[in-house]
Amino acid sequence: MKTVLAAAGVALVLAVGVSAQRGRGGQPPVPTAPTPPGPPRVEALKKEAAAEVKAMRVQTQQMVDQVFSFAELGFQEFETSKYLTSVLEKNGFKIERSYAGIPTAWFATWGSGKPVIAIGSDIDDIPQASQKPGVAYHDPIIAGAPGHGEGHNSGVPLNVTAALAVKKIMEREKLPGTLKLWPGVAEELVGAKAYLIRAGLFRDVDVSLFAHVGSNLGAGWGGGFGTGLVSVEYTFQGESAHSAAQPWRGRSALDAVELMDIAWNFRREHLRLQQRSHDVITNGGDQPNVVPQNASVWYYFRETDYEHIKELHEIGDTIARAAAMMTNTEVTSRILGSAWPQHMNKTLAETMYANILTVGLPAWDADDIALAKGIQKELKQPQVGLSTELGPLRGGRDPEENMGGPSDDIGDVSWVVPTVTLGYPANIPNLPGHNWANAIASATPIAHKGVTAGAKVQAMTIIDLLMRPELVTAAWDYFRNVQTKDQKYIPFIGPNDQPAINMNEKILEKYREEMKQYYYDPTKYKTYLEQLGIKYPTVRQ
Ligand SMILES: [Zn+2]
Repeated sequence: MKTVLAAAGVALVLAVGVSAQRGRGGQPPVPTAPTPPGPPRVEALKKEAAAEVKAMRVQTQQMVDQVFSFAELGFQEFETSKYLTSVLEKNGFKIERSYAGIPTAWFATWGSGKPVIAIGSDIDDIPQASQKPGVAYHDPIIAGAPGHGEGHNSGVPLNVTAALAVKKIMEREKLPGTLKLWPGVAEELVGAKAYLIRAGLFRDVDVSLFAHVGSNLGAGWGGGFGTGLVSVEYTFQGESAHSAAQPWRGRSALDAVELMDIAWNFRREHLRLQQRSHDVITNGGDQPNVVPQNASVWYYFRETDYEHIKELHEIGDTIARAAAMMTNTEVTSRILGSAWPQHMNKTLAETMYANILTVGLPAWDADDIALAKGIQKELKQPQVGLSTELGPLRGGRDPEENMGGPSDDIGDVSWVVPTVTLGYPANIPNLPGHNWANAIASATPIAHKGVTAGAKVQAMTIIDLLMRPELVTAAWDYFRNVQTKDQKYIPFIGPNDQPAINMNEKILEKYREEMKQYYYDPTKYKTYLEQLGIKYPTVRQ
C-alpha cells in the first residue's frame, strides 16, 4: 500500500512540474473550443429537445418549488427522494432505492444499451438557512430550521426535465442508450459520493453529466480550481470527576479538544497557502461542574491535490494524538466525508459549452432584477443585478496557480468516469454562499428560468452523446491518456469506513413537524410564492 502511494506521489509531482512549465514557460496552452455542430439530424433533434424542455416549464417550476419546500439536510433527504423517485417512476424509470447503504440514495434508469449516461445533482441543504423565497432580507419561514441556502433544490428537477424531454425523442426515434439519474446525497457533508462509487454506481457508466446551481450558465474542464478534502471527527475520552471537590481525579476531554485547536491554529502559519481548514466543536462536555469525560471536534482538511490532502489529514492525526498525550486522554477518529479535487473532461465540457452558446441566458424581467439588486444592496455588495453575459469556456488551468477554494465530492466521480458539471443560472451573483441569502432566489422565477435554460443545455448534450459515439470515444481518450495518465483515483475512505447516515437526524427531528405545514401543495397553488402569500419581489424600501 505504502509503495503504491509513494509512486503516485512522484508521478503527481512530475505532472505538476510539466504543466507549470506549460503555464509559465511561454508554451502555447492546450487549445480549446466549443465542439462543432453534429449532422443535421442530430441538430434537429437537439432543437426539438430544447422545445420539449420549454413546454415542460410548469412541471419544472413545480419540482423546483416542491424540493425547496422540503428543505432537508444531508442524509435526511427522505421527502425529497420519495418525491423525485415517484416522479421518475411515474414516467417509466426503474428505481433502485437505499443504494450503498444510504437510506436516501437511489438511482433511476430508463432505456437500454450503450451509451450509459449518468445524470446527477445534489439535493441537500444548509443548517439554519430557512428563508422566505422572493424576499430580499433575512426573513426565515421557520427560525433556526434548515433551508436551501445553496440552491440544491433545483439540480435534480433540472435533470429530470432534461431526461423526460430526451426520453420522448429516444422512444420515437428508437435511439439506443440508457439514462441513469442519481442524487448527490449529503453534498454539504461531502458524505456520499465516494460510497456510491464504492458500491458500483458508475461501473457501467460511459459518461457522467452533473449540474450545480450558480449565477451563470457555464462549463469548464481540467483541474487547477478549488480543493478536495477529508472531513474527520476526533473524539477524546477522559474521566469525569467533581470539578470543584476532586478535580485532580478528572481527565478532561474538552481540554484535549481545545489544545488540538490551539495547536492547529499555530501550525496553520506553516502550512501551504493553498490549504483551507476549519472546525466546529460538536461536543464540548455536559456542564461545568462535571469534568468533560468525552468531547469531539470536527475538522475539514482542504488542499488542492491528493498528496497534500493526505498530508494535512496526517498532521491533524498527529496533533490529535499529541493533545491526547498532553491531557492523559484517548483519541479515536472517524471519517465523515471526503472529496477529491475536481477534474472535468475536455470533450464533454466543449460539447456542453457549444450547447450553452446556443441556449444563452434567460430573459430576466424587471421583477427578477429588482430582487437581485435588492439583496445585493441589503448585503452591501455591488448592485450588478443578474448575469446577462456568458463567461468563456474555461479549461487547462495551471494547477500551480490554484490557490484553493471550495470542494464538491463530484470530484471523486470525475476521477472514475469522464464527467462535466453544468453551472446554471438559478441564483444571484455576489452572495455569501451557505447562507439564507442564497435561498431567496431558489423558488422564484429566477430559479425557474435558470433551470429551464440549464435543462435545455443538459438535454441537448445528452442527445449529442447518444448520437455521436465519437464524442464518447474522445472523452475516454482524454480521461485515459491525459487526466489519469500519471494520477489514479485512490479513495480517501478505507474499506471499513461507512457513510455517516445518522448525521442531521436530531435537527430534522426537531423541525420536521413544523416544516410539514409549509410543504408545497401544487394542487392548490400555482407556485410556492403564491402558497406563502409572498409578493414578488419583496424588497426593503
Ligand atoms: Zn453545492
